[in-house]
Amino acid sequence: MDKKTTELLIAGQGAAGYSAALYSARYQLQTILAGAEFGGETAIGGMIENYPGLEADGFDLMMNMKNQVMSYDVELFEENLEEVSKINEGFLVKTNTAEIEAKAVILCVGRERRKLNLSNEDSLVGKGVSYCSTCDAPLYKDKIAVVVGGGNAAVEGAVLLSKYATKVHLIYRGSSLFRPEKVLLTQLEKCKNLELHLNSEIKEIKEGNDGVEGVIISKKDESLLIPSNGLFIEIGADPRLEIPNQLGIKIDNETNEVAVNKLMETNIKGIFAAGDLTNASGPLKQTVTAAGQGAIAALSAYTFLGSK
Ligand SMILES: Cc1cc2nc3c(=O)[nH]c(=O)nc-3n(C[C@H](O)[C@H](O)[C@H](O)COP(=O)(O)OP(=O)(O)OC[C@H]3O[C@@H](n4cnc5c(N)ncnc54)[C@H](O)[C@@H]3O)c2cc1C
Repeated sequence: MDKKTTELLIAGQGAAGYSAALYSARYQLQTILAGAEFGGETAIGGMIENYPGLEADGFDLMMNMKNQVMSYDVELFEENLEEVSKINEGFLVKTNTAEIEAKAVILCVGRERRKLNLSNEDSLVGKGVSYCSTCDAPLYKDKIAVVVGGGNAAVEGAVLLSKYATKVHLIYRGSSLFRPEKVLLTQLEKCKNLELHLNSEIKEIKEGNDGVEGVIISKKDESLLIPSNGLFIEIGADPRLEIPNQLGIKIDNETNEVAVNKLMETNIKGIFAAGDLTNASGPLKQTVTAAGQGAIAALSAYTFLGSK
């Protein structure tokens, strides 16, 4: 096993992680940024049109963030954290090939999107399959879109999409929508171009040369082809809680996310968390909020390390 020590270890190469690493480097903390996968969700999100000051492909935006971080004295360690435990002088972080002793840790490991697990779902991400209607709705101007899900995110997504698309189909397997907020329901009822399919499930995504062409749903023992340019899967996402649970970090009971205060401190001294993993930004999980929280977490880690 390779052995390393550092002042601050940041886990996750997403917007929160890069931003935390940038700030940490500028505070001149000895920093390791650990994570096997480049760019996080933003890198696979297609066009990012709501990051203030620029409009860019998510991959390019994240490459810029990474390059900016790497222009400082930050060690990029391209392996995921497998295990983290408390030791006298801080924390022992284990990856597949290394043991890293860190005085403080910032967790920025994001969330796992719930999937429908259809055969071509993964390969069509960015080609019509999306897990974020807030992000991608404007790309559906004068197009047809299908949204699957029955909670707030799905209803909100369908309402937003109906402002751009010519037609929106909302598909949900239940016999009524899953307790969306009343105000959303009222908005939904006002959407003239929206068709609600209850007791329905998506069985197949139809794929053409340019990506999604439609979906096949089962509705009351019938199979129905709905032509569509996109499929928005809004059935929730689960924060990655394996490492927080190993450390006994407090989880927000209501949201099942890592509980942080406004300084991005968890209940464990020396462990900070930022981005979509946390309850910091409520329901708005975006690149800009994750980056902001990463910056705050780095300042908090700097203050913590300075006080030791
Ligand atoms: C399809 C799609 C489109 C989107 N479009 C937009 C948009 O247009 N605008 C916008 O603002 N937001 C958009 N979003 C949301 C935005 O991408 C997220 O809010 C943002 O990526 C959150 O950043 P994060 O750093 O918290 O987490 P993530 O980006 O999820 O990054 C977490 C990183 O941690 C890594 N990781 C996981 N486990 C470990 C481990 N054990 N050790 C180390 N690393 C680990 C992951 O591999 C990942 O790289 C979109 C999301 C999706 C899915």
